[in-house]
Amino acid sequence: MKLRVALTTTDLSSLEHKQALLSSPSGLVVKIEGAQAKTVNLAPGQKLKVTVKGESLEVQTTGSGAHFTASRVTLAPAKGGHSIFVDSLKRARAKGQEGAEYRGYELNIALSGGHLRLVLVLDLEQYLKGVLESEIPASYHLEALKAQAVAARTYALNPRISHEKDNADVCDSYLCCQYFAGHKAVGSAKHTQAIESTSGEILKYGDKAILALFSSNAGGYTSNYEDCFSDPKTNLFPPAPIPYLRAVVEKQQAAAVAPKLAAKDMEAQLKEMWHNPQRSTFDSWSPHFKWSVHMPAQALEAHMHHELSLLAKDKDTAPFVIPPQGGQFGHIQKFEVTERGISGVAIQLAIHTSTGQWLVKKELVIRSAFKNSEIKLARLKSAKILFEHQHDRLGLLSSVTVRGLGWGHGVGLQQTGAQGMALLGKQYREILAHYFTNTQIHKIGS
Ligand SMILES: [Zn+2]
Repeated sequence: MKLRVALTTTDLSSLEHKQALLSSPSGLVVKIEGAQAKTVNLAPGQKLKVTVKGESLEVQTTGSGAHFTASRVTLAPAKGGHSIFVDSLKRARAKGQEGAEYRGYELNIALSGGHLRLVLVLDLEQYLKGVLESEIPASYHLEALKAQAVAARTYALNPRISHEKDNADVCDSYLCCQYFAGHKAVGSAKHTQAIESTSGEILKYGDKAILALFSSNAGGYTSNYEDCFSDPKTNLFPPAPIPYLRAVVEKQQAAAVAPKLAAKDMEAQLKEMWHNPQRSTFDSWSPHFKWSVHMPAQALEAHMHHELSLLAKDKDTAPFVIPPQGGQFGHIQKFEVTERGISGVAIQLAIHTSTGQWLVKKELVIRSAFKNSEIKLARLKSAKILFEHQHDRLGLLSSVTVRGLGWGHGVGLQQTGAQGMALLGKQYREILAHYFTNTQIHKIGS
């Protein structure tokens, strides 16, 4: 089965590239479409540069210096080869490996609104190798890797955001779909084994492939879908619940899910969980289970004001940032989580400032509001958070300590929890049944 993967820019945030630099150790066959249609063969290591010139693509080769105008370009590895290098993209790579390497049938480059769009076409199972290499360490137990392989395969068939408008099935960014950083020069045999031993297996609820969300660590308790995500079509929050993405406790024979508590009672529970050294859940072995970050009030104020105004301008996040009347961001007095999901994840955060109260909703928006270059923080690791406020002698806020549980949104499969379950002897089918309530494994097409 073939899959089309739209490649994002180096920061993983956009599908629009300014240029593309390409090569292959085996040489490339380059099909140029448009008025100057032709096929060009590139020697091993020879580079192709594609840029935008007016309404068309400009294609240049190094060495020969030839250049062409095209409406669209398709590249494939020359006969006997299997890799395409996109040297204009930086991805986390094995040492000594330049640019991003992709094993695929072809790479399509098209023009879109003054930018380039890159779409890789490859076999689904080959794509999964790249996803597993990017998403989960090969040192994990084989059963955890198998659970991840089935979830990732299912996700590719049914991503949360449709990429049809991009002429693709998925994109390669974890900010939108699942991470696919290309292929390593030498892949792991264990990743391959996890993919091959679950070949073609996907998860279904009823007769449909599920939305197989996953993240790293849920901090002892996974979250309900509707507590963390908005509706992908309407952006409404909370969206309709999804019957198989329900909160589960990361324990064997967990007690029935408790009724939802008031935010302050839940806070006491989270505190107990954070500080209790006796904790023992599937995921508590992980260094990502709990964390803390200390922020001086001055650094916080300067950056948070800026981040909130960016979030308030972006059409996807704007509905989740509600300023006070007058729209001023004064001195921060206090952070208060005013609504939490059943797992303790923050749904709504109130930021009390000297000029009024700002409200921030939804886990990724709340996490992003804390982006802070001064302390090198891209976003909080999770939204399962507690605040401790420190004050100076005048009673003004001097610093804030955020304590948190887990890493990621905490909905669906948890990689570190799957590892914990596998070490207790659970098979991948039991792991998947734990995270995706009432789902079944089917072969694609059955
Ligand atoms: Zn995507």
